[in-house]
Amino acid sequence: MKLVADFHVHTIASGHAYSTLLENVEAAKAKGLQLIGMTDHGPSMPGAPHPIHFANLRALPPVISGVRVLRGAEVNIIDAEGNIDLRGRFLKNLEIVLAGFHQDCFEPGSTEDNTRTLVKAMASGKIDVIVHPGNPAYPINLQLVAEAAAQHNVLLEINNVSLGGIIRRGSDRNCLALARIIARLGSKVCLGSDSHFCDSVGDLAEAAQLAEEAGLDATQVINTSLEAVDKFLVLRGHKGLSL
Ligand SMILES: [Zn+2]
Ligand SMILES: [Zn+2]
Repeated sequence: MKLVADFHVHTIASGHAYSTLLENVEAAKAKGLQLIGMTDHGPSMPGAPHPIHFANLRALPPVISGVRVLRGAEVNIIDAEGNIDLRGRFLKNLEIVLAGFHQDCFEPGSTEDNTRTLVKAMASGKIDVIVHPGNPAYPINLQLVAEAAAQHNVLLEINNVSLGGIIRRGSDRNCLALARIIARLGSKVCLGSDSHFCDSVGDLAEAAQLAEEAGLDATQVINTSLEAVDKFLVLRGHKGLSL
């Protein structure tokens, strides 16, 4: 599976990541990527930037050193209603909004609670991608979440760094089960490195392998072409890539 995009990349702006945007762009280029999402953590995460950071991403050119940079955020779900920690003008000009559960921002509930919260978050229309849905710290009903994601045209992420048992240990099994459901539904996923240092920008091999093992074909993985990314962004009400 040829991959041209990495949707989940952090910079020093996150407070606990260690590369600049330019370092990430150069790393992406060296690995042959055409697009990255600059998706620093939303403001509820300790050390994360002020909401102004996100509003002012328009200061960035769309293409930097030959790599298309999506101005994005990885926002936090902050309550049981699925609300997120960016709103209004801080949210509205972003080109991609990832969202998920983080332990510094929201206490895990029961499987039913977590599932209900994620479904509400997806139904809000404000979120394009749910990150690391396979995290065992926030158990969910995989079938219900996959169905709601398909219904609301939200992508579920296969988070590369969660695979292999070092962080979010136990994600492998959940991600494989989730990807199998998505394969059956015919809906889509995105792959993200969740890079916090430039060396790991574009590290998507384990996630791609899992996607293949689950029976997802390349058309169900939007990292495989800029056309697929563009189509998805337009479907979500964003401007798209202007290809
Ligand atoms: Zn982080
Ligand atoms: Zn995250």
